[in-house]
Amino acid sequence: MALLACEGFGIRYAVRIIDLPTQGAENRNLKIEISRTLFVTSALMPNYNRADLAFERGEGAWLTAVNGRRYLDFGAGIATSSLGHAHPGLTGAIAAQAAKVMHVSNLYRVPEAERLAERLTAHSFAEAAFFCNSGAEANEGLVKLIRRTQSETGHPERWRMICFQGAFHGRTLAMLSATGNPKYQAGFGPAVDGFDQVPPGDIAAVRAAITPETAGILIEPVQGEGGIRVIALDFLRQLRALCDEHGLLLGYDEIQCGMGRTGRLWAHEWAGDAAPDVMSSAKGIAGGFPMGAVLARHALARHLTPGTHGTTYGGNPLACAAANAVLDVVLAPGFLDAVQQRGQQLRTGLEAIARDYPHIFKEVRGKGLLLGLLCGPANTAVQEALRENGLLSVAAGENVLRLAPPLVVTEADCDAALSIIRETAVTFAREMGGSAS
Ligand SMILES: *Cc1c(COP(=O)(O)O)cnc(C)c1O
Repeated sequence: MALLACEGFGIRYAVRIIDLPTQGAENRNLKIEISRTLFVTSALMPNYNRADLAFERGEGAWLTAVNGRRYLDFGAGIATSSLGHAHPGLTGAIAAQAAKVMHVSNLYRVPEAERLAERLTAHSFAEAAFFCNSGAEANEGLVKLIRRTQSETGHPERWRMICFQGAFHGRTLAMLSATGNPKYQAGFGPAVDGFDQVPPGDIAAVRAAITPETAGILIEPVQGEGGIRVIALDFLRQLRALCDEHGLLLGYDEIQCGMGRTGRLWAHEWAGDAAPDVMSSAKGIAGGFPMGAVLARHALARHLTPGTHGTTYGGNPLACAAANAVLDVVLAPGFLDAVQQRGQQLRTGLEAIARDYPHIFKEVRGKGLLLGLLCGPANTAVQEALRENGLLSVAAGENVLRLAPPLVVTEADCDAALSIIRETAVTFAREMGGSAS
């Protein structure tokens, strides 16, 4: 655990406590280690906070670094590598499609996209799909579709969206506003107008935020970046009823929590009768190949007439071949049951560790294979310690550490991850001077 880190002139210093003197011990010297690493400055823009670690290849839930060390990947490229690494079905489909035709544009029919849309609509509330290249782009499409539907059905004055505190919807100018987090907005000029934030779970606040200009509501059924906050199923049902009552359109952002991640194909399915009018998907949809999708009821989709919306790469044969290969696996009988079982295995194990080390892990959150550990120490310090012990994870809001392994993770992988997490908790408890209580 690095307690202090600073960098300058291409050198990163980290101070780490190796051994703490026990109370009343003869030797009161603190044993510390100062490490000095050279970090490479690169021609990439400095917008990411990268670990000094690069990977060469992977298999399943395992990644091998360029220095040969193996890591258990419970971050899955931020809940994206749904089939893990080097899945033969996915890599085979991509290679085969790339060798035939990769991109033709949407000036022509794309059979792979038609097939993908048929499969996605057959397995969701939706009746039509639009394909794009990222999550933020899918959410932009979702909001445009809601506004256009209101406009085409006699309500051009309805264009505002109600969104929720703690949400994350992406980094385009409009999605920064939908996200509404000042941390992401600073320095990027005036916020794009049209997004009103209310606290999740507070139906009275939502009702109070509705104005004659409100077009719809946008919510993540499980907030991912915000700290793995599971939205109550009853709240989703209340939003559905409120939308029906006021003629609003309901949009779900299932970019992170959808495509099997919670153990159902779509996270909102757990709520039963709270289907949206439109939904965005991305991240896991093509197993790491860049893709996004907007899925909607026909009543909305029919207003996206030729020329109203588009994107050059969207739904090209290569991306659709990748997404179809992911669906082959995720829709196979028993697959989502296995996701639920692995999720349960992890949750049970994590809750046991949190019981033993309540100062390190204060709470276990999430659903299926989208889990969060509310940390006592800084989540980034825990993330770094886990990485040093061979387990990759992702930090999230509210000091939560996110575990989102590939959906193909095995029982043995989960056991291995749990032992690393326990071992790390032991070290933290010792370094913090606390003990298992
Ligand atoms: C990651 C994410 C986005 C943004 O997706 P990008 O592909 O990074 O644009 C939007 N919404 C949610 C819920 C996400 O997790």
